[in-house]
Amino acid sequence: MEPILIVHGGAGDITEARVPGKFTGVKKAVREGFKVLSDGGSVLDAVEKAVCSMELDDNFNAGYGSVLNIEGYIEMEASIMHGKDLKAGCCTLIKGIMHPISVARRVMEKTNHTFLGGENAMEFARRENFELLPPDSLITENAKRALEEFKENQKKGVDTTFARTELDKTEPNGTGTVGAVAIDREGNIAVATSTGGITGKVAGRIGDTPILGAGTYADNEIGGVSTTGHGETLMRFNAAQRILQKISCHNMSAQEATEAALKEMTARLVGTGGAITIDKKGQIGIYFTSKRMAWAYIKGNELHYGINAGEDFSENTTEK
Ligand code: ASP
Repeated sequence: MEPILIVHGGAGDITEARVPGKFTGVKKAVREGFKVLSDGGSVLDAVEKAVCSMELDDNFNAGYGSVLNIEGYIEMEASIMHGKDLKAGCCTLIKGIMHPISVARRVMEKTNHTFLGGENAMEFARRENFELLPPDSLITENAKRALEEFKENQKKGVDTTFARTELDKTEPNGTGTVGAVAIDREGNIAVATSTGGITGKVAGRIGDTPILGAGTYADNEIGGVSTTGHGETLMRFNAAQRILQKISCHNMSAQEATEAALKEMTARLVGTGGAITIDKKGQIGIYFTSKRMAWAYIKGNELHYGINAGEDFSENTTEK
């Protein structure tokens, strides 16, 4: 099996001005993650590395550059899963930590549990020697502006149910959850997803990203999926599981399953989203019902990437 790493950098109404930054970010992340795989690292190491790269990048809504809740502060969440033994780690309501994905991995590896949240997750991170940054240090000007626009829109009576998609028409930083799926030569699959959530969410709101079966799922016997988009919708639809179910029970290809599940989700629940999938045969699925979703993958020497529907640019990985 040829190793593959695929990443996404969030789905939504991404403005034209944000496209170059998203491309640079997803291409950098996929190269960094794939290098881990080609240097003999595990699929877990590879997806964590790719997500960490985007958590450091303010082109994305994860780690540095996360969006603000209605109170004006950041609460982040993440999950990671290994398809070999179905081990997973999830965390939510994380503040002032650059790499929530690494907290999730530590939950998986250092506790008897799968999901930690809030103050006790922070206490766990402290004990595990994660650097605790002043929470404001992760806030960008874009995130502040996005919250101001959210509040103005609320005052004007704009429906904020699907805030992230409505707002993205005017604001520059409403989307950008990040995710990665990898498969290695032995067919091991891992998935990681990390986010700051949605602008203007109430404090304590938890989205799909840290929830297994919604934002993240990996099973070597079927495949792996990371999703992005309107969290309440993805969570209620159990989006990642629905995609895998179409592969395992309906014999669909990764692409057919990803497309069919997301179309069904948006038809039934209105909210939009996107997903990246790799099935156990190493086939790739990429689809979104949102206007755009940044993605990139490497297989062999080829790096493919895109952001608009049907787009597929490629370059050789030996090129810079
Ligand atoms: N799904 C994330 C959430 O609702 C947001 C996103 O993917 O952009 O928290």
